[in-house]
Amino acid sequence: MNLIFASNNAHKLEEARAILPAYHILSLAEIGCHEEIPETQPTLQGNSLQKAEFVYNWCREHLKKLPADILGCFADDTGLEIEALNGDPGVYTARWAGDHCNPADNRKKTLTLLDGVTNRKAQFRTVVTFIPFAPGKPSVFEGIVRGSISTEEKGNGGFGYDPIFIPEGYDKTFAELPIELKNSISHRARAMKKFADSMI
Ligand code: IMP
Repeated sequence: MNLIFASNNAHKLEEARAILPAYHILSLAEIGCHEEIPETQPTLQGNSLQKAEFVYNWCREHLKKLPADILGCFADDTGLEIEALNGDPGVYTARWAGDHCNPADNRKKTLTLLDGVTNRKAQFRTVVTFIPFAPGKPSVFEGIVRGSISTEEKGNGGFGYDPIFIPEGYDKTFAELPIELKNSISHRARAMKKFADSMI
């Protein structure tokens, strides 16, 4: 059974495939969708729905060229919410250090803003939206992992903010922990597991 994931991020795809092993997860590139996916909403929920709807509509137009047995498409949107920054960067997590920034710029900005700050509590929140190809409404699933922001970057695994995020109950960043562990406790894993459970 196929599911389309509205993403071309290799790390996210790898995680989604590990978290949802019962499904064949197709990337946007694999279905021939090379469009820029809009992400212009003011909330994670809004962006997640916007991405899923965009891909759903693209699929309806190109359905004949797609593999058979596709259950639907899903999108995720993730935000890092830092308590001492009143929940920022939140919906701005990807563009935190500016429109053309890279993940290293984002991490650097975060560590600079938290320099000398003792409250380092933070959480990752993911919202997954699934739109079925069969008649039906979109479903929404949320996953949260609480933790804290480290004082320096550590580890080479993962992506994005992983080198500065320490999940609660551990003393290592996501980038230092084995990917199997991240995939069992992460925000994305929690949201996608709820999604997988809903499909049973
Ligand atoms: P989006 O969900 O692709 O829009 O991601 C928003 C931002 O969160 C990007 O800067 C990602 O790098 C970051 N991000 C998303 N998921 C993770 C994760 O699992 N670990 C670290 N950073 C993440």
